[in-house]
Amino acid sequence: MTTANLPLAAVRELLSGHKIDALLVSGPENRRYLSGFNADDPAWGVLLITAKAAMLLTDFRYQIWAQQEVKDFEVLTYKVDLAETLAERLKDLKVHRLGFEAAHTTYWHYQHLNKKAADAGLTVTWKPLEGLVEGLRQRKTAAELAIMRRALILTETVMRQVAGELVPGLTERKVAWEIEKRLREGGAEGLAFPPIVAAGPNSARPHHQPGDYVIKAGEPIIIDMGARVDGYCADMTRTFLLGEADEHFRKIYTLVRRAQAKAETELKAGMDSLAGDALARDVIAAGGYGEAFGHSLGHGVGLAVHESPSLSPAEAKRVVLPDGCVVTVEPGIYLTGWGGVRLEDMVLLNPGGAEVMNAPGYFYKWEWLL
Ligand code: ZN
Ligand code: ZN
Repeated sequence: MTTANLPLAAVRELLSGHKIDALLVSGPENRRYLSGFNADDPAWGVLLITAKAAMLLTDFRYQIWAQQEVKDFEVLTYKVDLAETLAERLKDLKVHRLGFEAAHTTYWHYQHLNKKAADAGLTVTWKPLEGLVEGLRQRKTAAELAIMRRALILTETVMRQVAGELVPGLTERKVAWEIEKRLREGGAEGLAFPPIVAAGPNSARPHHQPGDYVIKAGEPIIIDMGARVDGYCADMTRTFLLGEADEHFRKIYTLVRRAQAKAETELKAGMDSLAGDALARDVIAAGGYGEAFGHSLGHGVGLAVHESPSLSPAEAKRVVLPDGCVVTVEPGIYLTGWGGVRLEDMVLLNPGGAEVMNAPGYFYKWEWLL
């Protein structure tokens, strides 16, 4: 017995509401979510979904791969040009209104597909859509959560190992490589993103490319990393300090941790995202460091390391936080010339509250007490 492909059924239910006969899916995470095709390059194929048909168009190189992985989609290989084969299928399926993913389709690609459809004598109205499959991806199933927990456990294990081995004299680059190596050796399919190891003044840069900076005692060290397991990402950050933490570091660290704890205690599904962001932001602002927290409180995590919903203070990104989504809670304070502190956990939101997915408490023992 095969289980129903619920995401595919959900997409089909959305077609008529968007006044389209078919949806073309090009985003790699969306493609994987719907079909199971585990390929990360956007150029490796598109899905075409109508009320009745579902197919993956790919080329010879991915034929066997796709046939082994893809479920509920017919695998169709094109010989010369995807756009020509697509035009033929659109004709067969009598598709006149075609939705496509605006965020995952390049301008060139759009023009090319359009031209080939016109060459084939088709009259197709192309409708750019945003966030359709991404919206479905927000609510995680029990199976998805189980995979995400595995990704996070591996991430925490490596974080603990690497933190335990931090000594003055190591470069950021060396630590980043150790993280990468151990995540891979521990069974990660890949990295959720290149690890961030930012020491000393570099830790004032929320995103930083690890370089030759040599780690010293008494300076903050931010490590932000995540494994990707079976397609799903983990994302966590800890801030460490070797040797004696001074008054200033303790003050900043404690304030960030208080802000994080407040959000983790009070966040829940159904809450307005701006109010969610404010839970932590207000604590940092009241402590006098509002200006030094210049990014969002968090973001959704899943097949993509950054996905919806966003826990942002921006009105334009305002949403009601959906039940069953996983978001990060990652307040930070960044002071130019000195450095920064960021703490990031993953939490699962439900109407009753937020479940912190990271291992409880003990983890903090490794920080600034090292
Ligand atoms: Zn992160
Ligand atoms: Zn993050």
